[in-house]
Amino acid sequence: MVDDENIKKRVFASELNESFIGKKVRVAGWVEDVRPLGSLIFLTVRDVSGIIQVVFIKGNTPQDTFLTAKLVARQSAVVIHGAVKESKAKGAKVEIQADDIQVLSKAQHPLPIDPTGRVSSSLDLRLDARALELRNPYTSAIFKIRHTALQSIRKTMLDNKFIEVNTPKIIGQAAEGGANLFSLDYFGKKAFLAQSPQLYKEQLTLSLDRVFEISTYFRAEKSHTRRHLNEFVSVDIEAAFSYKEDVMNILEETVVKTIKDVLKDCENELRILNRNLKVPKTPFDRMTYSQAIEELKASGLKIEFGDDLDTRALKRLSKRHRDFYFIVDWPTSLKPFYIEIKKDNEEISESFDLMHDYLELASGGTRVSDREKLEKRLLDVGLDPKDFSEHLKVFTWGMPVHAGWGLGLDRFVMFLTGMKNIREVVLYPRDRFRLIP
Ligand code: ATP
Ligand code: MG
Repeated sequence: MVDDENIKKRVFASELNESFIGKKVRVAGWVEDVRPLGSLIFLTVRDVSGIIQVVFIKGNTPQDTFLTAKLVARQSAVVIHGAVKESKAKGAKVEIQADDIQVLSKAQHPLPIDPTGRVSSSLDLRLDARALELRNPYTSAIFKIRHTALQSIRKTMLDNKFIEVNTPKIIGQAAEGGANLFSLDYFGKKAFLAQSPQLYKEQLTLSLDRVFEISTYFRAEKSHTRRHLNEFVSVDIEAAFSYKEDVMNILEETVVKTIKDVLKDCENELRILNRNLKVPKTPFDRMTYSQAIEELKASGLKIEFGDDLDTRALKRLSKRHRDFYFIVDWPTSLKPFYIEIKKDNEEISESFDLMHDYLELASGGTRVSDREKLEKRLLDVGLDPKDFSEHLKVFTWGMPVHAGWGLGLDRFVMFLTGMKNIREVVLYPRDRFRLIP
């Protein structure tokens, strides 16, 4: 019998190699296939790391063990004990000649989806059975890459002397005006779910200097696209004594280092996803918003200075700009009140978006750091400075010039994995039609 202590002594499938030959091991995982072949039963068992072939030989194991192996339902959770042998199976170096199997939990068929991926299912069905679907190496590869990206981003932040912070997600004030906020009842008062950490991260620069936060944000947008969710994860930075060029460089470094780390640590996952990821050329191309408008006009699109770049415009731009590129110097009217405006032209802001293909990955800029100017900007966009008194007060405590950006993690992972729908890279996506599971 396998007891709890023994489960702890298990090895992972991917760890098993020739050096284990002759040794007794224990593996724990899920049965992917059962193939009885006369006096032999072949089981393939998958754990989070990979797959291992297990062989039961009639006569080598007690009769009831042999029977258990023969009748085990696919996808049941099992613990196998046996000796490691050289394998004749294609693509495998070793296998386990089993002497024991314990079925910890039987999978009840029919299962909602086939986690081996041999029978394909719609995105909706797969998302409804997400926990099971993650046994599919294709799906788990996406989330291993996401994990590697997160680790890599954190490392780049630490290398650049950023401090990781956590700011509130339940907020009492609409940080950027009221649009697109989810509201909730907070002990009889109206509260909102944060749509970004913008005001908090700016405030923190006046003491912690350089801060970053990786967190979930909420937008009550009714849009239904392949790149928007109502709950998404953003990597945010804000740096004191910095201008937009400084943080653009940090963004470029973050993107390139993440790609390099994914190439180094996720070779197998990229192969499973058939993703031909490449280190991009640096420095990233830059064009001004005005240049983008000119280019679009020249291509025959009806567009004027001051118009936002909608999906159609971005798709057209991406025909000539395939890799990463920055669009800088957006019209002040298209950017939020906290973005600094150009000294010599009030119509243009010290802003940038990082693009890849037609996807906006990040937005950022130099921020207004002067209180009076910020009040004026609030009035310009129709907001009441009184509603921002808590924020404005910190600007009288020695606010440094500062700059920052927000990078959509989910969209960045779409790029890293080559997924075309944001729902593929989020474990339990939230959109207008999906609140459970
Ligand atoms: P978009 O124009 O694509 O709707 P945005 O300009 O409203 O994005 P920002 O407020 O600039 O978004 O947020 C910074 C980044 O966060 C974006 O560049 C994007 O990568 C990500 N992001 C914003 N909204 C969403 C969303 N609804 N779902 C997923 N990611 C988002
Ligand atoms: Mg933006």
